[in-house]
Amino acid sequence: MIPSRLPFEIIRDPAALRARAEDLRRDGLRIAVVPTMGYLHDGHLSLLRAARASADVVILTIFVNPTQFGPREDLSRYPRDEEGDLAKARGCGIDLAFCPEASAMYAPGYQTYIEVRELQQPMCGASRPGHFAGVATVVAKLFNLARPHVAFFGQKDYQQLAIIRRMVRDLDLGVEIVGLPIIREPDGLARSSRNVYLSPDERQTALALSAALDAAEAAVKRGERDVATIVAAAQATLARPGLRVDYVELRDADELTAIERLERPAVLALAAFVGATRLIDNRVLTVT
Ligand code: AMP
Repeated sequence: MIPSRLPFEIIRDPAALRARAEDLRRDGLRIAVVPTMGYLHDGHLSLLRAARASADVVILTIFVNPTQFGPREDLSRYPRDEEGDLAKARGCGIDLAFCPEASAMYAPGYQTYIEVRELQQPMCGASRPGHFAGVATVVAKLFNLARPHVAFFGQKDYQQLAIIRRMVRDLDLGVEIVGLPIIREPDGLARSSRNVYLSPDERQTALALSAALDAAEAAVKRGERDVATIVAAAQATLARPGLRVDYVELRDADELTAIERLERPAVLALAAFVGATRLIDNRVLTVT
């Protein structure tokens, strides 16, 4: 058990969180926030541990944010386990958990959204219209409430991380953004709260995602620089019964713009439906 320095507290009221955060700031304490939708796994816990090591006060937020789900997505059945989450998070030494109700975050008449216009267009933004406006907006709201000096995100959600970094820069939010590596199962599957949806057969099929990244990376290591050929290597690995590709794209690592040749760092990002479950994965590919 990593010791926290303050008595542990659960806050549900947004105004109470802001008041608490203002007090902590007045006391000169460095605040870290880790935003999540709960159902915590080792990926989330890696963020909490890094936060614990870098700040005086660690705030975990657990909020299944309705505005980032499309009408046909899994909002109502998204897995939840607040009690289990709090036990795991307390094991990582968090000081405070913010677990608001949706009605407290979005009062009747709510109508303000943040759009990171270019970065939200491709990849997951193309298949999930409105998703990133929901993400950017809730993260901005969480920053305004928790008043963090630093916030931790996973590279698992690569496009999300790029969007949050850009939002912070564009809106002068003054929060340091730390992005941390993807935590995987021993067999390569990226940890995700949605993995719980997978049947044993689907769990096997889902290994194609990380295998596709391996195949693309191997092509690059053999000297391949043509983006279409690298993407095709990933696509070929994903061609399995029970798996439907949403997208596979290799784009500039910073701007997420389309490229034709791999000449500078690029991100190979993919999304696929395994049964009814949509999974994502990515890897940054570099040439040396
Ligand atoms: P979520 O609860 O899915 O919204 O994720 C909350 C945070 O945990 C986001 O910053 C994610 O990128 C991060 N995260 C989710 N899965 C992983 C993983 N496998 N490895 C590292 N970070 C992750």
